[in-house]
Amino acid sequence: MPKILLVEDNEMNRDMLSRRLLRKGYQVVLAVDGQSGVEMAQTQAPDLILIDMSLPVLDGWEATRRLKAVAATKHIPVIALTAHAMSGDREKALEAGCDDYDTKPVELLRLLGKIEALLSGNGGEMASSGNPTS
Ligand code: MN
Repeated sequence: MPKILLVEDNEMNRDMLSRRLLRKGYQVVLAVDGQSGVEMAQTQAPDLILIDMSLPVLDGWEATRRLKAVAATKHIPVIALTAHAMSGDREKALEAGCDDYDTKPVELLRLLGKIEALLSGNGGEMASSGNPTS
């Protein structure tokens, strides 16, 4: 089963989402801040990354920029999660290199649809915006 790296500093959100993903059959690895998220992406080689944008040490935008700047991790699809539904966040996530975007609180079925689309190579909502598919 695909391995998902979940980067989330809020313990309750992290536990809830990881349990739901495990129940769906995904392997889940966890990081609690942006810096450890970047490191875990390199050591764990996940198939997809779910990353909260509001994180300690490195925020989600900076962590994603770093993930997308190195060959070892730039191909891994990244879905940004944020509590802020403001339209500007979408552009900010895209600029940082995120492949898709979802808002919290997470609606599991909607998020699973985005995860499955990216894992199957069909891209997320941002796939048409110039994200390389190699
Ligand atoms: Mn957070």
